[in-house]
Order: sequence, then C-alpha cells, then structure tokens
Amino acid sequence: MCASVDRSDRNGAITEHAVVIAGGGPAGMMLGAELTLAGVDVAIVERRVNPEVESSRAGGLNARTIEVLDQRGIADRFLSEGRAMQVARFADRVLDISDFPIRHNYGLALWQKRFEEILAGWVDELAVRMYRGREVTGFAQDAAGVNVQLSDGSSLRAEYLVGCDGSRSLIRKAAGIDFPGWDPSISFLLAEVEMSEEPEVGFRRDAKGVHAMGRLVDGHVRVVVREEHVGQTGEPTLRDLSQLLIAVRGTDYGVHSPRWIARFTDMTRQAASYREGRVMLAGDAAHVHSPVGGRGLNLGVQDAVNLGWKLAQVVNRTSPDSLLDSYQAERHPAAARVLRTTMTQTVLQRADARIDALRDTIAELLSMDEPRKRFAAMMSGLDIQYDLGQAHPLVGRRMPDIDLVTDRGPLRAFALLHDARPVLLNLGEPGDLDITPWADRVQLIDGDYAGTWELSVLGAITAPTAVLIRPDGHVAWVGEGGDVGLAEALTTWFGRPAAMGSSREASTHRSPAPSVGSASVGLRKRPARLKAAAAIRNAQGGVRDVKRSR
Ligand SMILES: Cc1cc2nc3c(=O)[nH]c(=O)nc-3n(C[C@H](O)[C@H](O)[C@H](O)COP(=O)(O)OP(=O)(O)OC[C@H]3O[C@@H](n4cnc5c(N)ncnc54)[C@H](O)[C@@H]3O)c2cc1C
Repeated sequence: MCASVDRSDRNGAITEHAVVIAGGGPAGMMLGAELTLAGVDVAIVERRVNPEVESSRAGGLNARTIEVLDQRGIADRFLSEGRAMQVARFADRVLDISDFPIRHNYGLALWQKRFEEILAGWVDELAVRMYRGREVTGFAQDAAGVNVQLSDGSSLRAEYLVGCDGSRSLIRKAAGIDFPGWDPSISFLLAEVEMSEEPEVGFRRDAKGVHAMGRLVDGHVRVVVREEHVGQTGEPTLRDLSQLLIAVRGTDYGVHSPRWIARFTDMTRQAASYREGRVMLAGDAAHVHSPVGGRGLNLGVQDAVNLGWKLAQVVNRTSPDSLLDSYQAERHPAAARVLRTTMTQTVLQRADARIDALRDTIAELLSMDEPRKRFAAMMSGLDIQYDLGQAHPLVGRRMPDIDLVTDRGPLRAFALLHDARPVLLNLGEPGDLDITPWADRVQLIDGDYAGTWELSVLGAITAPTAVLIRPDGHVAWVGEGGDVGLAEALTTWFGRPAAMGSSREASTHRSPAPSVGSASVGLRKRPARLKAAAAIRNAQGGVRDVKRSR
C-alpha cells in the first residue's frame, strides 16, 4: 500500500519513503500509525528484532492518552487488558478524577510491555513499514531530504527523519541539538526477580529514600530500590541489587533469577529545539525526566499525535513547511511543564523532616476541591491548552467527547476522529457553514448536542454553534453564531483554500488512507428525507457527512 520507491545510486539501492522514523517504541509506533492514517509513506527503523520489550518500565496511561487512543477507535484494546483506576498522584495523594465530566474519568494500570504489544498489533494492521533488527547509525540532510544510514549498510532516503529513539537519541546528538537540563540527583535500580523468601511488599520511605516491592501476577517480584551513589554507568547486576536490598531492608529475601535489571534516575533534560531542518524529535528523544508521576510514555504518545497530522499535511503538500513550527510551539511548553512537576515530585520523595512538612502542606492543599481538580487535570494531561489565539475557552483545548445526534443516530464526537482527519462540527442550522474550498481535507458534520458544555476544571462554558477540530482532538476554532475567523483558521491549520490554491499538487508519496478503525462517516447511507437537502448542498460543492435528525 505504501508507495516506497527503490532507486540506485553509486552506493547501491536506496529505498525512498516520505518519512523515516528512528525507533519503534511508543512514540515511534504512534507516529507511524498517524502518518499512515494520513496516507503518508512512512517507515520505522527499530533496533529490536521483534515487538517484545524485555523490561516493562511504564505502569500505566493517563486519562488523556486513553482519550487519544479512543479518538482512533482503539482504546478498548487497551482498556480490556488493563485495570481502570485512579492513577494520578501528587505529594502522596491520589488525585481522584471520577467526578470529572469526561467519559474516561480514570487512568489505566497497564505495563508498558503489554501497551507496546497492543500498539504494535494496530501498527501491523495499518501495514506500517517496519525495518526491524536494524539501527539508524547516521544521517545527512540536504535541501530536499535526508539520507539515513542503517546498521546493515543500506540507506533510506526521506523527506523528513523523526528521532523517536529514546533518551540517548542518536538522532538528537547527530543533529547537533542541545539537551540542556539537570544531571541526576538520585538513582534507582528497577528489576523483576524471583525471591525464595516472602518479600515485604509495598512502598516505603525511610532515611535511605524510597523503595518499593510488589508481586506480579506471574509470581515475579518487581523491585525499586535506591542506589547509594549517583552516576554509576556499568550494567547493574544481581549482586548490586542484592547488596542494595540488604543495605535498605537488612535482607535480600533470597533474590535470584532476574528477568531484567535496569537503572533509572531523575535526570531532567529537554531538547532546546524539536527540529533541525528536516530532522525532528519526539518522545524521550526530546525530553527525559524522573518517572515519578508516570508521564513519559504519555507525553511521547501525545507528541506523536500532535506531530503526525502536521507532518502529513506538509508531506502531502496541503500545508507549508512552517506548519511544523507549531509542533515545537505547542509541545515544548507541554513537556517543560511535565519536567517542572517531576522535579517537584522528586524533591517531595526525599526523607527529611522539612520535606515531610512540605509534603504534608501540599497534601493539605490538595484535599481542597479546586486545587485537587487543577492538579488532577494536570497530572492526567487533560488541562493542556495550546495558545491558538481565539478567546473562547475551548480553543486550543481537547474537544470533549460529546454525544451527538446525527442522521446515523447517536455518534460520539471522538468517533469522528478515527481516520485522523479534521472535522468541522456544525451544531447550528445545517447549511450554515460553507467550507467547499477545504471539502477534500475537512469533514463537515452536522449534528445536535442536547447536553451541557462543561469542561474539566473550567466548568460550564458558552455553548458553541460550531467547532473546528484538529486530527489530534484539539479545537482550532469555535463558532459563536457565525463564521467569523473560520476561513483563517482553516487556512492556518489545513492549508490554503483549493480555489485559490497553487500549492496543492499531489505528492508522489501519497498513498490511500487505510480503513482500519474508520468511522466511515462519509460512506453511510443518508435517510431519504435528507437526500434532497444533501443533493442541493453537493451541487453547491459542499460535503456533509453526517446530518442532524429533525
Ligand atoms: C522505571 C520507569 C517507570 C516509568 N513509568 C512510566 C509511567 O508509569 N508512565 C509513563 O507514561 N511513562 C513512564 N516511564 C517512561 C517511559 O518508559 C518512556 O517515557 C517511554 O518508553 C518513552 O517512549 P519513546 O518511544 O519515546 O522511547 P523508548 O521507549 O525508549 O523507545 C525508543 C525505541 O527506539 C529504539 N532505538 C533506539 N535507538 C535506535 C536507533 N539508533 N535505531 C533504531 N532504533 C533505535 C529502541 O530499541 C526503542 O524501541 C517510565 C520510565 C521508567 C524508567
């Protein structure tokens, strides 16, 4: 399905793709899927031979990531295998979001290993090209593209290269992108092991720091234990783990047969730029921080969903290259905020009478409703508002998953985003809005919504008469009884109108978008009573995919 091209140069065969992604972890796979949904010929180069991850780092998803997966119609795959629970925490307090006016008012306990396997299944269904068992070893960019060298001696040519290759990103280093921040102040060993004695499960904070042990369903024990010294570089061993356990617990519980042992720290750094020419960064390649709070994987998935549609539009020649600047403008501050909170949380984990007092004070604050809601929204990724200029409180925020009435019957707003295409949702009179010059790019949906407009934390907002929703689920424009600013917003986000357009040549890399996960709203059969109206609108050049029932 992907229109990759083989051509020879004096070094041998070079395969061309529109976009090459280095790294097929959570961020790389999500980005590969997003680009494929948008019809882009993308390839992922992944060092690992198979999708199985040896170690399971992240333990869960926040509410916004569940929403993002729901927007693509795949949330149930994850929800059915994890445990819905309140996962947001700050200063040792669980921040309950069950009273938030959202569908997924919880997080999901699901090990990263399983998350990646399920995501890999979706990526396979979408037929995303994956070069496994190979590493990107270097690249050279020129005005027209990037030559990407692989460890097997072959090369790929792409218009853009995205580094989703984790915290030690070769792509970031080779692009010369600075990674300023803070060296680690604390270091831990994390392991899954067997123990011949019964371990003391649970979380403990003492003079030596924070330690935790928990029994996994398969009988293994997951151990987190603080190292005495920061800055160790060698691979951690079973002996290291045993010694640390004896130092902090007085026994190693007969630890043996480690499945894996890894080290993590609170090193906090963020790429100074998410882009250098035709090379971009997403996920841990762009930001690293302490895992406390469980944000990293979530951030990476959300980076990918922000970048995917923008890069697709640039590659597909519907938008200028400058659209990519909005990726940095939106995602850099979002990650910087996460870095700030993880640094705070790291301090709050310390065992010290003054820190105990600080933690208690913050916990007291968080027992109040308003602070609890604000921090819970922040930790759940629900409070992000990109600065898109318009005054309505919905602009720049996540589109709520409202229940619509359409000519197909009830339809959730998120279902309109399954294909990762932009949507103009008209909640006013059908035919009020005309987006004919963007009809090939933007779906126009007429719908009714009878409920109240209430946002998490913000509360009730003025009901919009129309909402322009970007493929990442953020609102680009709100109608308040007219179409003031609509054409400008459509042009900014989805390219120049076709009638005026000169930049919309078909890309040689464009391939048809797959139908997996599609809501297929454009293919539904209209009730007879709506056909006449639809025919008139179509004769005028408009496209209406779903219409309200009258
Ligand atoms: C102890 C711990 C607990 C954590 N808990 C949470 C949590 O609860 N919630 C959360 O959201 N996050 C958590 N995280 C963070 C999370 O694990 C990472 O943020 C996440 O894995 C980042 O995803 P990524 O795709 O950006 O990078 P990675 O997962 O690092 O994936 C990078 C991929 O690139 C491949 N690769 C690297 N270099 C190359 C190359 N040159 N060529 C080809 N392939 C390459 C690697 O094999 C890998 O598959 C935790 C992390 C740790 C250490």
